[in-house]
Amino acid sequence: MYHPFSLEGRTALIAGASRGIGLAIAEAVARSGADAILAARNVEALETAAAKLRQEGCRARALRLDVADVHSIENVVAELPDIDILHNVAGINIRKRFLDYTREEYDRVLNTNLHGIVELTQRVGRKMVERGKGGKIVMIGSLQSVVGLPFLAPYAMSKSALWGLTRVLAAEWGKHNIQVNCIAPGFIVTDLNRAMWQSPALNEWLKGVQALPRTGTPEDVAALAVFLSSRGSDYITGQCIAVDGGYTTTAVWPFEP
Ligand code: NAP
Repeated sequence: MYHPFSLEGRTALIAGASRGIGLAIAEAVARSGADAILAARNVEALETAAAKLRQEGCRARALRLDVADVHSIENVVAELPDIDILHNVAGINIRKRFLDYTREEYDRVLNTNLHGIVELTQRVGRKMVERGKGGKIVMIGSLQSVVGLPFLAPYAMSKSALWGLTRVLAAEWGKHNIQVNCIAPGFIVTDLNRAMWQSPALNEWLKGVQALPRTGTPEDVAALAVFLSSRGSDYITGQCIAVDGGYTTTAVWPFEP
């Protein structure tokens, strides 16, 4: 039976799948029928996740990938089967005042979040274009792709650039039937920020400023990632879709009329 969101018969590479949002995407993609290749540096975590999915009857395997190392990207791409769907999730952040960033910290964030993703997308994208069967590319941007929040300058630069790359690749690769979109997750609690969200003051602040007054989960993001990987989104490209409880588009007032 036809289902617009089924990924049956598709192969998906999820770069940054060892935990958090990438793991949730890998699980959702595999449970939607795709052959899922889980990639990141922590192979043990990837193997555990892939084995769990296989036990459920899904198709999943682990592959070591360091997106900050071009040789690692070359090796991975050389051993990949044809990829129908690429999820670019790998990312790090360093939270600091702009004036305090060192050059090393700046390079570390940009090398992972931007240069690594560019290298991977160029290599996987080249194969997608050459084989001529279309494909889907999903970038994981951020609120910081579209709004400025303090203390994350290099991160915001990398995520804004991914949104720029999304628009350009959507334009360049449309004729190859490759759809390229960006997801901008909002405040999603993961290892990246778990300590910060322990603060009751921060949670109280969120209730006052966001239409949906809660933090998000990796699964909130994964559902959109499945949709953007599926035939159901074949006429959607060059978009940045926020999964942010309304943070970027709404304002909450502290009184009733
Ligand atoms: P996380 O739990 O820290 O997960 C980060 C993932 O990226 C891990 O799987 C990690 O795997 C992988 N990764 C980091 N450096 C890598 C490298 N050099 N090579 C390969 N993989 C690498 O964080 P998360 O919150 O799920 O974040 C996932 C993505 O969502 C990031 O791009 C982040 O910027 C974005 N995002 C998160 C939020 C949020 O609120 N959480 C909001 C907006 C955007 P290994 O360490 O095993 O390599």
